[in-house]
Amino acid sequence: MTSVTAPSASATVRVPAKVNLELLVGPLREDGYHNLSTVYHAVSLFDEVTVSYADEWGLTVAGPKADGVPTDGTNLAARAAQLLARAGGVDEPVHIKIRKDIPVSGGMAGGSADAAAALVACDHLWGLGLTREALEEIAADLGSDVPFLLAGGTAMGSGRGEVLAPVLARGTYHWVFALSDGGLSTPAVYAECDRLRAGRDVPEPRPSAEMMQALRSGDARLVGEALVNDLQPASISLRPELGDTLEAGMEFGALGGIVSGSGPTVAFLVEGTEAALDLAVSLTASGTVRDVRRATGPAHGAHLVAGPRPD
Ligand code: ATP
Repeated sequence: MTSVTAPSASATVRVPAKVNLELLVGPLREDGYHNLSTVYHAVSLFDEVTVSYADEWGLTVAGPKADGVPTDGTNLAARAAQLLARAGGVDEPVHIKIRKDIPVSGGMAGGSADAAAALVACDHLWGLGLTREALEEIAADLGSDVPFLLAGGTAMGSGRGEVLAPVLARGTYHWVFALSDGGLSTPAVYAECDRLRAGRDVPEPRPSAEMMQALRSGDARLVGEALVNDLQPASISLRPELGDTLEAGMEFGALGGIVSGSGPTVAFLVEGTEAALDLAVSLTASGTVRDVRRATGPAHGAHLVAGPRPD
């Protein structure tokens, strides 16, 4: 029997959103950045990125959270594909299709996720076969969260967040996310954080023993108690209703609640599937929150779900 390998025409990659279980922000550096010490955790809210051979570069966005996503060269998935093409010496334009389910400007790193997905998808489509280390290096050039979205799971991040180290984390965690209508700009939240901390002596960020022990134990209750986000006061200062949302979620029985990254998404950790459903219903019924999503973590990083395959 002979087998014929048809030319590959597209590749689809699924990529998760993230929440920071711990986000410690150091003092403002002279270059305008901050050193971070963070614990990233990938959760089962996914975007899908499909790349297909095309006559010219193009990008379309569809799905529940497509509104407000740029479709020009500033889209992080397009930037990722073009950076990879340059690095790999490829001259093969692709059309990028994003199915967007991760909230935009929600503090869940959706743009970085799409960049990570585009790297993996294009690497497959073009048959580059780059090593994980080579992809990670390109990812770090695209943004501090991009290397983590390649890796997924639960991991420590230092530097600006792009230097990853493994964390011993046991268990599956159940989350309820309270989504907001409008997004928050990450630079605006950092600026507000600097303003609120002006004149205060801010230490260099170091991972907390409390979170490490909680993750090692796999006890959701301990993880809930250890959740911390130095950006949270700034997000609440810019969006005071986030404080009400956090209070409501805790009153309805969450094990812990935190603003996700720079916000405005609020993440609640709960005991299990049933508790997640109960909290989602309570938050919606109370009128505090309009859009609620449930998810579990840790989730896998950017991974191929279809292709390369013929059309
Ligand atoms: P982070 O948590 O990394 O700070 P975020 O979740 O708050 O990010 P994103 O959804 O990643 O925010 O996007 C921030 C901005 O980036 C958007 O306002 C949008 O203009 C731009 N952007 C570029 N590419 C994308 C993309 N593929 N998806 C979403 N936003 C994108």
